[in-house]
Amino acid sequence: MGKMRAVQVSRPKGPFEIVERDIPEPGPGTVRVKVQACGVCHSDSIVKEGLLPLQYPRVPGHEVIGVIDAVGQGVHPWTAGQRVGVGWNGGYCGYCYTCRRGNSFACQTSTLVTGITSDGGYADYLIAPATALAAVPPTLAAADAAPLMCAGVTTFNCLRNSGAKPGELVAIMGLGGLGHLGVQYAAKMGFRTVGIARGNDKEEFARKLGATDYTDSEAHDPSEELQKLGGAKVILATVTAADAMKSVLGGLAINGTMMLVGAVPSLEISPIQLLLKSQAVKGWYSGISSDSEDTLAFSARSGVRSMNEVFPLERVDEAWERMTNGTVRFRAVLTTGN
Ligand SMILES: [Zn+2]
Ligand SMILES: [Zn+2]
Repeated sequence: MGKMRAVQVSRPKGPFEIVERDIPEPGPGTVRVKVQACGVCHSDSIVKEGLLPLQYPRVPGHEVIGVIDAVGQGVHPWTAGQRVGVGWNGGYCGYCYTCRRGNSFACQTSTLVTGITSDGGYADYLIAPATALAAVPPTLAAADAAPLMCAGVTTFNCLRNSGAKPGELVAIMGLGGLGHLGVQYAAKMGFRTVGIARGNDKEEFARKLGATDYTDSEAHDPSEELQKLGGAKVILATVTAADAMKSVLGGLAINGTMMLVGAVPSLEISPIQLLLKSQAVKGWYSGISSDSEDTLAFSARSGVRSMNEVFPLERVDEAWERMTNGTVRFRAVLTTGN
């Protein structure tokens, strides 16, 4: 049996260990993916820090791009040699009540999360259920595509399900890993796109990404600024601070919706404000494999790209450090050389 490199965490708050493991065999309904690149995401701290009960040792990584190199029994239509991505959603049953109604993201029989409930992409190979696979367009390089499997699908899928129509005002709050993609998607989808961030030094960057307007939330009240533009049909809040979310809520238009993808423990909202203007605050789950596939295809065609810092697998500590201290511009990606 062949051997492979894997980056594992053996216990909560334990270090990354680069170990040699047997190359795993795909069981029924699964494929083996030879990993080319895997994004480093803040959610990987669930494994690193032990934020949820899970089985150790565990290989993190849910922004995986690679090539199928072995196919288990009963897998259709995937074949060896196809380029695929594997994201956060690690597959679903397809037959439960919610799956049959098109809501497989909330599958009732399986809660599979790549790199959490099974070993992920910080390795040369991983095993993934066929339902977790997204086709990767040939024009997208592996390292470019990896963050689109999480930050990309989250913002793309959120915006396309937000109810905003081309020409309507959409504000993207935060210009980090998610926000810099959110601005690009919003602009390419035809929304009048407003970037909101702290400081005026990010204005040029926001405009380069496709924003037609920019608000410095330190110098101005972002709610007032949005109201001057007529109010936002949708505000995509990518920040992880409740007070920042609250500061922009007043910028919604009549019937506007604030879409939350940043996880904050609690958020204070005035129901009166919402009901008088028929507004909504809605959470958004990222997406399943078909959503990721749409994200990759849209990105390849429209030129939306994640800006990444790329590290070979062996430099995982450095990638992790830059991601956790917030200095990475804008996503960290590990490559295997495969
Ligand atoms: Zn992620
Ligand atoms: Zn299901």
